[in-house]
Amino acid sequence: MLKVGLTGGIGSGKSAVSAELAAYGAVVIDADAIAREVVEPGTPGLAAVVAEFGEEVLTPEGRLDRPGLGEIVFADEERLARLNAIVHPLVGERSARLMEEAVASGTRVVVYDVPLLVENDLGPLYDVVVVVDAPDEVRVERVAVNRDMPREQVRARIRAQADRETRLAAADLVVDNSGTREELRERVAELWRELLERA
Ligand code: ATP
Repeated sequence: MLKVGLTGGIGSGKSAVSAELAAYGAVVIDADAIAREVVEPGTPGLAAVVAEFGEEVLTPEGRLDRPGLGEIVFADEERLARLNAIVHPLVGERSARLMEEAVASGTRVVVYDVPLLVENDLGPLYDVVVVVDAPDEVRVERVAVNRDMPREQVRARIRAQADRETRLAAADLVVDNSGTREELRERVAELWRELLERA
Protein backbone atom coordinates (compact mmCIF):
# COMPACT_ATOMS: atom_id res chain seq x y z
CA MET A 1 0.00 0.00 0.00
CA LEU A 2 1.31 3.38 -1.01
CA LYS A 3 1.66 6.03 1.71
CA VAL A 4 1.22 9.49 0.27
CA GLY A 5 2.02 12.70 2.17
CA LEU A 6 -0.13 15.50 0.74
CA THR A 7 0.84 19.05 1.56
CA GLY A 8 0.65 22.63 0.39
CA GLY A 9 0.44 26.10 1.88
CA ILE A 10 -2.70 27.74 3.17
CA GLY A 11 -5.35 27.92 0.46
CA SER A 12 -3.38 25.80 -2.01
CA GLY A 13 -6.24 23.32 -2.42
CA LYS A 14 -5.21 20.35 -0.25
CA SER A 15 -8.77 19.73 0.92
CA ALA A 16 -10.06 19.90 -2.66
CA VAL A 17 -7.40 17.41 -3.80
CA SER A 18 -7.91 15.00 -0.90
CA ALA A 19 -11.69 15.00 -1.45
CA GLU A 20 -11.14 14.01 -5.10
CA LEU A 21 -8.64 11.32 -4.14
CA ALA A 22 -11.12 9.92 -1.59
CA ALA A 23 -13.72 9.71 -4.38
CA TYR A 24 -11.26 7.59 -6.39
CA GLY A 25 -10.95 5.20 -3.45
CA ALA A 26 -7.98 6.48 -1.46
CA VAL A 27 -8.27 6.45 2.33
CA VAL A 28 -7.58 10.00 3.54
CA ILE A 29 -6.14 10.69 6.98
CA ASP A 30 -6.32 14.30 8.12
CA ALA A 31 -3.45 15.28 10.45
CA ASP A 32 -5.19 18.41 11.75
CA ALA A 33 -8.35 16.44 12.58
CA ILE A 34 -6.30 13.88 14.52
CA ALA A 35 -4.53 16.62 16.47
CA ARG A 36 -7.95 17.98 17.48
CA GLU A 37 -9.47 14.57 18.28
CA VAL A 38 -6.80 13.52 20.78
CA VAL A 39 -7.60 16.50 23.03
CA GLU A 40 -11.37 16.48 22.75
CA PRO A 41 -13.36 16.80 26.01
CA GLY A 42 -13.34 13.52 27.92
CA THR A 43 -10.08 12.23 26.39
CA PRO A 44 -6.98 11.24 28.39
CA GLY A 45 -5.12 13.67 26.13
CA LEU A 46 -7.09 16.67 27.36
CA ALA A 47 -6.75 15.48 30.97
CA ALA A 48 -2.96 15.31 30.54
CA VAL A 49 -2.82 18.79 29.01
CA VAL A 50 -4.88 20.23 31.89
CA ALA A 51 -2.68 18.43 34.44
CA GLU A 52 0.34 20.12 32.86
CA PHE A 53 -1.02 23.59 32.06
CA GLY A 54 -3.93 24.06 34.46
CA GLU A 55 -7.64 24.74 34.02
CA GLU A 56 -6.88 28.11 32.47
CA VAL A 57 -6.28 26.42 29.12
CA LEU A 58 -9.96 25.40 29.01
CA THR A 59 -12.80 27.46 27.53
CA PRO A 60 -15.91 27.96 29.70
CA GLU A 61 -17.44 24.98 27.79
CA GLY A 62 -14.54 22.76 28.84
CA ARG A 63 -12.85 22.57 25.45
CA LEU A 64 -9.17 23.23 24.86
CA ASP A 65 -8.56 26.94 24.34
CA ARG A 66 -6.12 26.53 21.44
CA PRO A 67 -5.26 30.21 20.92
CA GLY A 68 -4.70 30.59 24.69
CA LEU A 69 -2.51 27.50 24.87
CA GLY A 70 -0.68 28.67 21.75
CA GLU A 71 0.20 31.94 23.47
CA ILE A 72 1.69 30.05 26.39
CA VAL A 73 3.73 27.50 24.47
CA PHE A 74 4.96 29.65 21.62
CA ALA A 75 6.50 32.03 24.14
CA ASP A 76 8.31 29.22 25.99
CA GLU A 77 10.21 26.41 24.26
CA GLU A 78 10.32 24.30 27.40
CA ARG A 79 6.54 24.30 27.71
CA LEU A 80 6.11 23.68 23.98
CA ALA A 81 8.33 20.60 24.35
CA ARG A 82 6.17 19.39 27.25
CA LEU A 83 2.99 19.88 25.23
CA ASN A 84 4.51 18.00 22.30
CA ALA A 85 5.58 15.18 24.63
CA ILE A 86 1.91 14.75 25.58
CA VAL A 87 0.29 15.20 22.18
CA HIS A 88 2.75 13.60 19.74
CA PRO A 89 2.54 10.04 21.11
CA LEU A 90 -1.27 10.25 21.10
CA VAL A 91 -1.26 11.47 17.51
CA GLY A 92 1.15 8.65 16.65
CA GLU A 93 -1.10 6.01 18.24
CA ARG A 94 -4.23 7.31 16.58
CA SER A 95 -2.48 7.53 13.20
CA ALA A 96 -1.26 3.96 13.58
CA ARG A 97 -4.79 2.78 14.36
CA LEU A 98 -6.23 4.59 11.32
CA MET A 99 -3.42 3.12 9.25
CA GLU A 100 -4.36 -0.42 10.38
CA GLU A 101 -7.97 0.28 9.43
CA ALA A 102 -6.81 1.50 6.01
CA VAL A 103 -4.80 -1.68 5.48
CA ALA A 104 -7.80 -3.79 6.54
CA SER A 105 -10.01 -1.91 4.05
CA GLY A 106 -7.83 -3.18 1.20
CA THR A 107 -7.15 0.29 -0.24
CA ARG A 108 -4.06 0.66 -2.42
CA VAL A 109 -3.41 4.28 -1.49
CA VAL A 110 -3.49 6.08 1.85
CA VAL A 111 -3.25 9.86 1.70
CA TYR A 112 -2.08 11.81 4.75
CA ASP A 113 -3.17 15.43 4.55
CA VAL A 114 -0.35 17.14 6.47
CA PRO A 115 -0.32 20.95 6.19
CA LEU A 116 3.12 21.36 7.84
CA LEU A 117 4.84 18.35 6.27
CA VAL A 118 7.70 20.40 4.83
CA GLU A 119 8.03 22.72 7.85
CA ASN A 120 8.34 19.70 10.16
CA ASP A 121 10.58 17.64 7.82
CA LEU A 122 8.13 14.73 7.68
CA GLY A 123 8.85 13.72 4.08
CA PRO A 124 10.75 10.54 5.05
CA LEU A 125 7.57 9.12 6.64
CA TYR A 126 5.93 8.75 3.21
CA ASP A 127 6.55 6.83 0.01
CA VAL A 128 5.54 9.83 -2.08
CA VAL A 129 5.27 13.53 -1.19
CA VAL A 130 2.66 15.39 -3.22
CA VAL A 131 2.65 19.19 -3.11
CA VAL A 132 -0.42 21.16 -4.15
CA ASP A 133 0.84 24.40 -5.63
CA ALA A 134 -0.59 27.76 -6.63
CA PRO A 135 0.99 31.21 -6.71
CA ASP A 136 0.83 33.11 -3.42
CA GLU A 137 -1.52 35.80 -4.71
CA VAL A 138 -3.95 33.23 -6.12
CA ARG A 139 -4.08 31.61 -2.68
CA VAL A 140 -4.54 34.99 -0.97
CA GLU A 141 -7.49 35.73 -3.24
CA ARG A 142 -9.18 32.34 -2.75
CA VAL A 143 -8.86 32.33 1.02
CA ALA A 144 -9.82 36.01 1.38
CA VAL A 145 -12.95 35.54 -0.71
CA ASN A 146 -14.06 32.08 0.45
CA ARG A 147 -13.22 32.39 4.15
CA ASP A 148 -13.78 36.08 4.53
CA MET A 149 -10.28 36.68 5.90
CA PRO A 150 -8.45 39.99 5.40
CA ARG A 151 -5.85 39.70 2.64
CA GLU A 152 -3.04 40.93 4.92
CA GLN A 153 -3.86 38.16 7.41
CA VAL A 154 -3.63 35.51 4.69
CA ARG A 155 -0.30 36.98 3.55
CA ALA A 156 0.98 36.84 7.15
CA ARG A 157 0.03 33.14 7.36
CA ILE A 158 1.82 32.51 4.08
CA ARG A 159 4.96 34.23 5.37
CA ALA A 160 4.87 32.06 8.52
CA GLN A 161 4.93 28.86 6.42
CA ALA A 162 7.64 27.39 4.20
CA ASP A 163 8.08 29.39 1.00
CA ARG A 164 6.96 28.05 -2.35
CA GLU A 165 10.44 27.06 -3.58
CA THR A 166 11.28 25.16 -0.38
CA ARG A 167 8.01 23.25 -0.53
CA LEU A 168 8.39 22.42 -4.23
CA ALA A 169 11.93 21.18 -3.58
CA ALA A 170 10.50 18.60 -1.16
CA ALA A 171 7.95 17.29 -3.70
CA ASP A 172 8.04 13.99 -5.57
CA LEU A 173 4.91 15.04 -7.47
CA VAL A 174 3.32 18.48 -7.86
CA VAL A 175 -0.36 19.23 -8.47
CA ASP A 176 -0.70 22.61 -10.14
CA ASN A 177 -3.82 24.32 -8.79
CA SER A 178 -3.31 27.71 -10.39
CA GLY A 179 -6.22 27.19 -12.77
CA THR A 180 -9.93 26.43 -12.61
CA ARG A 181 -11.61 23.73 -10.51
CA GLU A 182 -12.20 21.78 -13.74
CA GLU A 183 -8.48 21.92 -14.52
CA LEU A 184 -7.75 20.74 -11.00
CA ARG A 185 -10.04 17.74 -11.49
CA GLU A 186 -8.05 16.78 -14.59
CA ARG A 187 -4.77 17.17 -12.72
CA VAL A 188 -6.02 14.95 -9.91
CA ALA A 189 -7.13 12.30 -12.40
CA GLU A 190 -3.53 12.29 -13.71
CA LEU A 191 -2.19 12.19 -10.16
CA TRP A 192 -4.39 9.21 -9.30
CA ARG A 193 -3.11 7.25 -12.33
CA GLU A 194 0.45 8.09 -11.31
CA LEU A 195 -0.15 6.97 -7.72
CA LEU A 196 -1.70 3.66 -8.82
CA GLU A 197 1.36 3.00 -10.97
CA ARG A 198 3.55 3.45 -7.92
CA ALA A 199 1.28 1.47 -5.57
P1 ATP B 1 -5.93 25.24 4.23
O1 ATP B 1 -4.50 24.85 4.32
O2 ATP B 1 -6.15 26.67 4.53
O3 ATP B 1 -6.86 24.31 4.93
P2 ATP B 1 -6.35 23.98 1.64
O4 ATP B 1 -4.99 23.81 1.07
O5 ATP B 1 -7.02 22.77 2.20
O6 ATP B 1 -6.35 25.17 2.66
P3 ATP B 1 -8.74 24.35 0.10
O7 ATP B 1 -9.59 24.58 1.30
O8 ATP B 1 -8.90 23.08 -0.65
O9 ATP B 1 -7.21 24.60 0.47
O10 ATP B 1 -8.88 25.56 -0.95
C1 ATP B 1 -8.82 26.91 -0.50
C2 ATP B 1 -10.03 27.67 -1.01
O11 ATP B 1 -9.91 27.84 -2.41
C3 ATP B 1 -11.33 26.92 -0.77
O12 ATP B 1 -12.33 27.86 -0.49
C4 ATP B 1 -11.58 26.25 -2.11
O13 ATP B 1 -12.95 26.05 -2.34
C5 ATP B 1 -10.98 27.22 -3.09
N1 ATP B 1 -10.39 26.58 -4.27
C6 ATP B 1 -9.59 25.50 -4.31
N2 ATP B 1 -9.19 25.24 -5.57
C7 ATP B 1 -9.76 26.18 -6.37
C8 ATP B 1 -9.72 26.46 -7.78
N3 ATP B 1 -8.99 25.72 -8.63
N4 ATP B 1 -10.42 27.52 -8.22
C9 ATP B 1 -11.12 28.28 -7.36
N5 ATP B 1 -11.20 28.08 -6.04
C10 ATP B 1 -10.53 27.04 -5.53
